[in-house]
Order: sequence, then C-alpha cells, then structure tokens
Amino acid sequence: MRSGTKSIVILGGGTAGWIAANLIATHWGGRGMDITLVESPDIGIIGVGEGSTPPLKGFMEVIGAKESDWMSRCDATYKVGITFRDWSTKPGFDEYFHPFLSQPDEFSVPAFFHNSYLRRNGVDLDGHPSQFFLAWELARKRLAPVAPPNFPFEMNYGYHFNSGLLGQFLQDWAAAKGVKYRQATVTEAVLDSQGFIDYLKTDAEENIKADFYVDSTGFRSQLLQQALAVPFDSCADVLFNDSAVVFPTDPDENPQPQTISTALKYGWAWKIPLTSRFGNGYVYSSKYVDDDAAEKELREHLGLLDSDIAARKLKFRVGRVREHWFKNCLAVGLSQGFIEPLEATALDMVQETVVRFIEAANKGDLTDRFRDEFNTRISKRFDAVRDYIVCHYRINTRSDTDYWRDNGSNEKISRSLREILTAWLAGKNITDELERQSLDAYFPSLSWNCLLAGKGIYPTKDQVRPGNELANKYDLKKNARYLQGCALNFRSHREQLDALRART
Ligand SMILES: Cc1cc2nc3c(=O)[nH]c(=O)nc-3n(C[C@H](O)[C@H](O)[C@H](O)COP(=O)(O)OP(=O)(O)OC[C@H]3O[C@@H](n4cnc5c(N)ncnc54)[C@H](O)[C@@H]3O)c2cc1C
Repeated sequence: MRSGTKSIVILGGGTAGWIAANLIATHWGGRGMDITLVESPDIGIIGVGEGSTPPLKGFMEVIGAKESDWMSRCDATYKVGITFRDWSTKPGFDEYFHPFLSQPDEFSVPAFFHNSYLRRNGVDLDGHPSQFFLAWELARKRLAPVAPPNFPFEMNYGYHFNSGLLGQFLQDWAAAKGVKYRQATVTEAVLDSQGFIDYLKTDAEENIKADFYVDSTGFRSQLLQQALAVPFDSCADVLFNDSAVVFPTDPDENPQPQTISTALKYGWAWKIPLTSRFGNGYVYSSKYVDDDAAEKELREHLGLLDSDIAARKLKFRVGRVREHWFKNCLAVGLSQGFIEPLEATALDMVQETVVRFIEAANKGDLTDRFRDEFNTRISKRFDAVRDYIVCHYRINTRSDTDYWRDNGSNEKISRSLREILTAWLAGKNITDELERQSLDAYFPSLSWNCLLAGKGIYPTKDQVRPGNELANKYDLKKNARYLQGCALNFRSHREQLDALRART
C-alpha cells in the first residue's frame, strides 16, 4: 500500500468479496476512501460454504447487522458445533461432538480435562468429550443457543446459511455503506514499471483504476497469483481431497443446530441444516475414487439412489499463497488459499485477513510498513488450521480403503503436528505444547483435546487401571444434571427461527 491511498477496487463478488467490502467500508468508508466492488456477470460464485464458526457473529455485529436483519433472508440456522461420525473404529468412539464453547461450560470442562488427562495416563475414567458441553445438550435437543435475558452466561455460536443469499444480503448492506458496484469481466491486470497493479482491462471498453486492489476472484486468483505471480504452496501431500459433489435434500421442521460430518469410503460428507433444505456434500480425493462413484456413494449415504435431483460437482485445490498482501494487492478468500472445509474455517480466514490488514494499514498510516508481519501472521494461521485438519485424517483408525490407510500412515505431516501427537501419546498436557508452539490462538487446547479424545486416542480398556477417590473426583451425573438444567433456559430452534422471521 502506498501513502495517499484513496481508492480501493475489490475484484470478485463471492462471500469473500462482500465480507471484505463491508469491513473496509465500516472502517474506512467515512474517511474519504472510494470503494468499488467489480464482479463478472459471466463467472459465477463457487456457491458452497454454508457453515461458519463463531467469529461470523462478531463480523455481523461489527458491520451493524442484527440477526433479524439477515438470518431469515439467508435461510440461516444456528450452529453450536459439529458431530463427527464414523471417523474412528475404536469402541465407544464412533461419534463425538466438537463444540463452540460458551461461558456455562467453564463449570463442566474441568471434568473433561481431568478425566481425559488421567485416562491417557492409564486410569479408567470416561474421557469421551461430548457429554461435557452445553452445546451438545442444545444440539441433540434441537434448541437454539440464544440465551434469554435472565440467563447469566454469555453464549457463543455460529451459523449455517445459503451462501448465495448471504452474498446478496452483504451486497445490499455494503451499498448502504457507500460501496459502489460494477459488473465487468477483467481480462488483464496491467502493471506499472515497479510491478504494482496500475489498472485493470475489462471485456468492455472501460478500464478500471484504483490505488489498491483486493483480489477475491476465487480459485482463479486473477490478480495475486496470475498477474503478480505470487507463488502458491500446495498442501495436497497431507490433505488428499480435491473434489466435492453437492446435493440438496428436504429440510427438517425443527433442525438440529449442528453440522454433521460423516466419514465415507474416500472422504467425508457434510450435512448442513438450512431453513429451506439440507445442504449435503461429499468431499473426496479423485486419486482414490472417480466422480460418478463418489456421487453414487453420496446418494446411497443419503438413501436417495433413485432421486432424479441433479448433483453438482466441483474441484478445488488445497494450500495457500506465500504472501497474501503483495505490492498494492491483498488476496482474500479462495484466491489466497483453501484448506478443505472440514471445520468450516474459510470465512473466518477471510474475516481475519481483512481485519488484520486494516489493523496493519492503520498502524502503518496506509503504507506497507507492517506488511511482512501481516503476511507471517496470516500464513501461520493457515498452517495452524491445516495441521488441525490434517490431524483428523492422520489419527483416523479406519482401514476399509487405501484412502484411509494412506491417511492414517502419512509421514508427511508437519513437525508441529508430530510434536503435538507425541505429547498427547506421552500423556503430557497438550495445552503446554500448544502454548510452547504459540498455536493456542486459533484452535484452542479444548478443540485439540476434543479431537484426540473424541477419536478415542486413549489406552484401551484392558490397559487401564481403576481410579481411586482422587481420580474419580468429578461426578459425571451431577455434571450432566447441571448441563440439562442450563438447557432448560433455551427455546426450540424452530421457535427461535420463527421469532426472528416475525421480526424481519
Ligand atoms: C466443497 C467446499 C465446501 C466449503 N464449505 C465451506 C464451509 O462450510 N464454510 C466456509 O467458511 N467455507 C467453506 N468453503 C469455502 C467457501 O466456499 C469460500 O471461502 C467462500 O465461498 C468465498 O469464496 P470466494 O468469494 O473467495 O470465491 P467465489 O465464490 O468463487 O467468488 C469469486 C468471484 O470473483 C468473480 N470473478 C472471478 N474472476 C473474475 C474476473 N476476471 N473479473 C471479474 N470478476 C471475476 C466472480 O464473478 C465471483 O463473483 C467451501 C469450499 C468448498 C470448495
């Protein structure tokens, strides 16, 4: 970024482009910054990406959008976590829940850490994670995570939504903040003598010129990777999936506020509840199964072999660019990279990228003074997410296909992940290990504990000894009663969604 930056062009109107437009307009719109989003009328958006993590709630708050402004418009539902099914063959661990942690969990989570730690160290205690979280109670009872005013704890949650409708909502919201919109397909980015983007040639007569450019052109990465030739580092050697087949099914009247991820033969299938439908998709590796066989397997999994509803197929690549902000261009969304969708982290990465960019630019008075620090920070976050996701595959215990066997024996995992796994298997406190590696900022220790405990990476029943009084210090029945009592405060997911619709 050069001093005197007064105009920004955001190229691409997928969710990433519109999140960027709203954040930039919220922070700089009133400061004389001219912001235009340019989108091709001929190149569609990717049209998947329907689950979020809790930071999306914060994003909506920052841009001033209330749930009643956007949720009904986007067929949105609440999300309190993800159930992982059939990833592990260990008895009792065929399924577990990865929660979004809320304040009431502060009273129940110590029991999980205690039991899980001692179980790893050979004591016969129940360390299965799901039972320790309010989110699990809400998910299985189909309750919305919105607390009544007299509930004295803060709740944390994410959402599911129709990505196309979310884009349209964000477009209208950005327009109200003064973001201009143009339709054109950019055919070339012309560089100046110093290698900065000078202007964009389009398929119409007019060129487009700005001081700074945001590349949100999806996997094309028209500006950062194509025009500016910033290298892309693939992580396909540790994340094998490169394809997806997507298929809608009828909605539930009162959906569970959670995503379900079920391991299939060559990958995993998501099930995401929206008010208008379930979004289903099978993410798989084309090296192990062809597209038609994958589609058949998904249809079988959904019990819809005879359905004539068409499935959509897509390809993707995993990895990240080496620099997210280069010269006068910032890449946001799929144009900067993608780790696969297992934990629905992509939009969070978009948000983080834009927020940190604004922070760095503000600190450096709209120059590129803090650019390197910014790039290192975002890349580190990508890599931390990658390792957490890789871990799901590396510790799977399925042996039914080459796909799962190859994943389970993959020695190309990063040193960082190897050290976390070594610490876990040695019965150490992995919170210390995550802190040592400064990795606790993204997936916190609790998430790592849920992942490793949830897949049953514990000594087997015949390797453990009975616990004494000290080991058995937490009464799990009491814990369950506490969480059940908390859950009594929440109304059904359906009622909450209807109440929102009535306020829209
Ligand atoms: C299978 C799958 C599942 C996913 N699930 C999740 C999930 O659950 N949660 C999550 O957070 N994320 C998920 N993602 C990621 C998510 O879909 C994306 O991060 C999100 O949709 C943002 O995409 P985007 O805006 O970067 O790109 P796109 O949606 O592809 O938008 C690209 C835009 O650029 C424009 N464009 C491209 N080239 C040009 C040009 N030359 N001139 C003008 N305009 C141009 C297009 O018109 C379009 O508007 C998933 C991704 C995949 C592949």
